[in-house]
Amino acid sequence: MSEHFDVIIIGAGIAGASLAANLANTHRVIVLEREEFAGFHSTGRSAAQFSEIYGNSTVRALTRASRKFFYTPPQGFCESPLVMPRGSLFIATQDQLRQLTDFAAQNDVGDCVRAVTASQALQMCPVLRPGYVAAAVLEEAAADMDVNALHQGYLRQLRQRGGRVLLNAEALEFSYAKAIWQVRTHDATFQAPVVVNAAGAWADKVAVRAGARPLGIQPCRRTAVLVDPPPDIATAKFPMVIDVDETFYFKPDAGLLFLTPADENPIDACDVQPEEIDVAIAIDRVQQATTLQISRIRKRWAGLRSFAPDRTPVIGFDPCLSGFFWLAGQGGYGIQTAPTAGALAAALIRQDLPSELRELPINELSPGRAALVAPAS
Ligand SMILES: Cc1cc2nc3c(=O)[nH]c(=O)nc-3n(C[C@H](O)[C@H](O)[C@H](O)COP(=O)(O)OP(=O)(O)OC[C@H]3O[C@@H](n4cnc5c(N)ncnc54)[C@H](O)[C@@H]3O)c2cc1C
Repeated sequence: MSEHFDVIIIGAGIAGASLAANLANTHRVIVLEREEFAGFHSTGRSAAQFSEIYGNSTVRALTRASRKFFYTPPQGFCESPLVMPRGSLFIATQDQLRQLTDFAAQNDVGDCVRAVTASQALQMCPVLRPGYVAAAVLEEAAADMDVNALHQGYLRQLRQRGGRVLLNAEALEFSYAKAIWQVRTHDATFQAPVVVNAAGAWADKVAVRAGARPLGIQPCRRTAVLVDPPPDIATAKFPMVIDVDETFYFKPDAGLLFLTPADENPIDACDVQPEEIDVAIAIDRVQQATTLQISRIRKRWAGLRSFAPDRTPVIGFDPCLSGFFWLAGQGGYGIQTAPTAGALAAALIRQDLPSELRELPINELSPGRAALVAPAS
């Protein structure tokens, strides 16, 4: 016996959850999640920074459009704020001044940042090593996100609207006949005219299972480390400090300091774990840029950031496979873009685009865009 729905979503990370919640007031939705709990993979492992100048211009447009949701979520969506102010300070050494100038010269970046001198940077973050920073720019309107509150808010909204999440339910087999998809898990079979691929690092694997052409979505490992802050310096109000070439960043995190070497190592989709070498590189780079003496690691983890070849998310119906919808390739921006990405994906599935979403670069997000079409062999 199969259960019938309007839409089957594969993956209950932030992508699947945000879409499911958006769709559930008009569609019968089920989300299939392979793991024991939603958010086990990338969604539960992020740095939780909201920055409107991070990522390429399409990503930045999605993030800007998501700001309103983060600052004024719908009533009852969450019990505490989704964002708390935390500026992003992009720093440059003497050798990186050109990169900083080029970065800030982009229109939609320049509008969001102000120039900061080396001594001002030091005031904002007194652990920066004197002489290391030559210049910086500050994105004052950046923020820490409460990723769990956002994710749980969507899952709650989904349930309130009659939608379902099924855990321990890997989508194993797909078939399509008479305009209906059939998706089989270990225990059950589900039918719907639309299947959504929101499988994060597994997006290409799910596509292959369904008979779609993979788009070259590549998972990349990023390492994160939590360390003790210096005992004699109040760190809670530090901005997030990010090297303009993104070779490391650090920020306060619940009384500790979060650091990363901003690694981006291509790897097969898996429950990724941190490598000792990347932990050591994180510490070394942060120690070079600061006066921090890191002697104790409180926690380390790694997560996957999955990129399409042009580093732009993929949102839309597959051009060659009926009823197969992509919501994948969110890279390092899937949390901050989720409110708009989820709403846009729902509108495209409904085939009813509200005016506020029409301004978005929809063609650049399409799975049929030129950058994703394999060159003829
Ligand atoms: C260290 C790090 C720092 C980051 N920092 C930020 C940041 O500051 N800001 C930001 O916006 N983003 C950040 N990101 C990126 C962000 O975490 C991701 O873009 C986002 O979580 C992707 O969400 P997702 O739902 O696509 O993937 P996931 O959360 O991985 O969810 C996909 C789900 O699909 C499930 N699945 C896969 N295959 C199947 C199947 N066959 N059947 C059923 N289920 C399946 C998986 O189990 C998984 O739970 C960071 C990521 C990392 C790793």
